[in-house]
Amino acid sequence: MSSYQYNQVTPEIIEAIKAAAPGHVLVGDQINEDYSHDEMSIYGKAMPDVLIEATTTEEVAAVMKICNDNKIPVTPSGARTALTGGPVSLLGGVMISTTKMNKILGYDKENFVVTIQPGVLLNDLAEDCLKQGLMYPPDPGEKFATVGGNVSTNAGGMRAVKYGTTRDYVRAMTVVLPTGEIVHEGATVSKTSSGYSLLNLMIGSEGTLGIITEMTLKVIANPKATISMIVPYEKLDDAIATVPKFFLNHLSPQALEFMERDVVDDTEKFLGKNVYPKQMEGTEVGAYVLATFDGNSEDELMDIVEKASEVVLEAGAIDVLVADTPQLMRDAWAVRSALLEAIEANTTLLDECDVVVPVTKIPEFLTYAKSLEKEHGFTIKSFGHAGDGNLHVYTCSNDMEEAEFNKQVEDFMKKVYAKATEEGGLISGEHGIGCGKMEYLKDFVGPVNMRIMKGIKEVFDPNMILNPGKVCYEIQK
Ligand SMILES: Cc1cc2nc3c(=O)[nH]c(=O)nc-3n(C[C@H](O)[C@H](O)[C@H](O)COP(=O)(O)OP(=O)(O)OC[C@H]3O[C@@H](n4cnc5c(N)ncnc54)[C@H](O)[C@@H]3O)c2cc1C
Repeated sequence: MSSYQYNQVTPEIIEAIKAAAPGHVLVGDQINEDYSHDEMSIYGKAMPDVLIEATTTEEVAAVMKICNDNKIPVTPSGARTALTGGPVSLLGGVMISTTKMNKILGYDKENFVVTIQPGVLLNDLAEDCLKQGLMYPPDPGEKFATVGGNVSTNAGGMRAVKYGTTRDYVRAMTVVLPTGEIVHEGATVSKTSSGYSLLNLMIGSEGTLGIITEMTLKVIANPKATISMIVPYEKLDDAIATVPKFFLNHLSPQALEFMERDVVDDTEKFLGKNVYPKQMEGTEVGAYVLATFDGNSEDELMDIVEKASEVVLEAGAIDVLVADTPQLMRDAWAVRSALLEAIEANTTLLDECDVVVPVTKIPEFLTYAKSLEKEHGFTIKSFGHAGDGNLHVYTCSNDMEEAEFNKQVEDFMKKVYAKATEEGGLISGEHGIGCGKMEYLKDFVGPVNMRIMKGIKEVFDPNMILNPGKVCYEIQK
């Protein structure tokens, strides 16, 4: 537990902050209630006392210095789409939002990098890159998250199976440390063996080590063509069993997702669309794989689709539906992108886990999670990234008392995290720890690793003011 003491924000401190960030400071009732939570408010809601809508690195640094001198807790935030309580000001204090730092500063096309401010939305970066004939490969589901938030959580997403996660695309960044010092980590180069990688420590640190105010990101030449395949199976086990076969047959999908039938049905109803086949060749569909391939020509892709069709049919697929029109491809992916939204819309009480397990262990893990449904009294819905074993499992209830739901979920999560660890997996593949998953991180990385993480935190943040109560540093609320 925390032995650090924090102070309240006084009128004098507010005046000093207003002088440091003139015109960008909101206080008390001026702050919208939305700033009290992220997309998973089950992990806690709390309003900051002061909100800074920062516009420059210097402004962030000046505010951080005031807060450090006065031991005021500070919470960095982006678009607040996190699913773990990461951008919640658990102790009040100051929130520094980087959403107004939303400029794409420029491309260096010969070195394949783009430099941006952290508040640029993923959607805007992706579209702007395409206009330049480039692609920014990380593709997490929430396109209106900020890229600063993506880097801070090491967001994954659909294309991780071929292109890796956000971490693989960060070359350099400017960071304001909790002390108010400004540092530059990394460089516009593709290799480094230059001491400890502070750049990599920052990536995925969920706003606990520093505030990122500028980033240089790797981009690649945009593939000239893409094509998707919907592959229906009778059972999820058959669908997952196909996954390694893609790679063994030299097929390298850009995205490889699995979806269970009931989740697809609910989402199609939610969207008012009917895209995925429900019955084929007299067989009821139980699960789907959605694969996308990219390449340099339509001909190349047709060859890939032919080969991939042979592979999946041999592995037990009922049939193959090639999304060879832009409309069908858009519809197939619209359903995939709305799975969480549809679950949220149909559910009063919701929690989730985003374990990552070895691909071959997906069916065993999901069967286990599903087997706990009756015992805990809620429904389990799941989907995920088949190609990399990252599973999103949702506990859903519309009729339980909230206290009972929370108690049951806690027990359920302990069991499924233990199962994931036993299978050689990890407790989060992409959503992070925030405040919602701290207890489980502690259980599963063990005391020595927790001591190291906390030691790193103390080196960056001697007064422990930055995002207290997240990842590895507990507080008494
Ligand atoms: C519908 C939906 C789908 C999603 N799909 C995916 C998915 O496929 N893959 C995935 O990985 N995630 C997914 N997410 C989760 C979420 O979108 C990501 O975690 C995203 O990276 C958060 O970005 P944000 O701008 O919303 O950051 P926030 O939620 O505001 O913050 C996230 C964390 O980063 C810190 N932070 C934010 N900005 C900075 C900064 N400039 N400097 C330092 N720290 C900072 C915050 O303190 C917080 O701890 C999804 C969420 C939703 C609602």
